[in-house]
Amino acid sequence: LHTESILRNEIVEIGKRLYSKDFVASNDGNISVRISENELLITPTGVSKGFMTADQILKVDMDGNLITGFMKPTSEMKMHLKVYSCRSDVKAVVHAHPPTATGFAVAGYSFDKITLPEVIFNLGKIELTEYGTPTTEQVPAAVEKKVRDCDALLLANHGALTLGKNLMDAYYKMETLEAVAKITLVTKILGKENVLSDSETGQLYEIRRKMQAYNPLCTNCGNCANASETEKV
Ligand SMILES: [Zn+2]
Repeated sequence: LHTESILRNEIVEIGKRLYSKDFVASNDGNISVRISENELLITPTGVSKGFMTADQILKVDMDGNLITGFMKPTSEMKMHLKVYSCRSDVKAVVHAHPPTATGFAVAGYSFDKITLPEVIFNLGKIELTEYGTPTTEQVPAAVEKKVRDCDALLLANHGALTLGKNLMDAYYKMETLEAVAKITLVTKILGKENVLSDSETGQLYEIRRKMQAYNPLCTNCGNCANASETEKV
């Protein structure tokens, strides 16, 4: 329970950072962390993440049933549950609407050309999902199709989703994603974009694999030290 209260406070802190950095407006965004095999802490619906308190955060099981809490969980809980069911290595999920990254998601832009090393180092890659009506099963279904080998997703016409091995890891990936989107926007304005070559991106993936510790929970993400030679990008 000591750990749980630390994690509740960490969610509150990340909510404040998301709000102060304009990554969310009004009551947008949601945060969750896996605290055991079958338990999750998740943010409530209808609360600004900038003004959330630790007691407002809910504990639910992996089917979304309420364990403790007096509020309703985020309407996007199904999206979080889907991520955890697809990725046993993921322990925390952050969803926000950072304006520049979301702009790219509205434009239907996929970051398939690598221009910045931190995309590979920090995120693996950035995937663009199909549009789904918020709160419906369409959103987790769209996420499921792309979530298996990346830690950052742009949700078409909606926002962004980042995944991490802990809360700060997931949050920092949101910062990286928005920073990459801002820099990419500037290169679009400048009208020139030097894309890294296949051999340059190959070297970056090689370094990423060496940097990542062996993860016993990973079955076959393709990005960590568990990946075999033949699976390398
Ligand atoms: Zn959203």
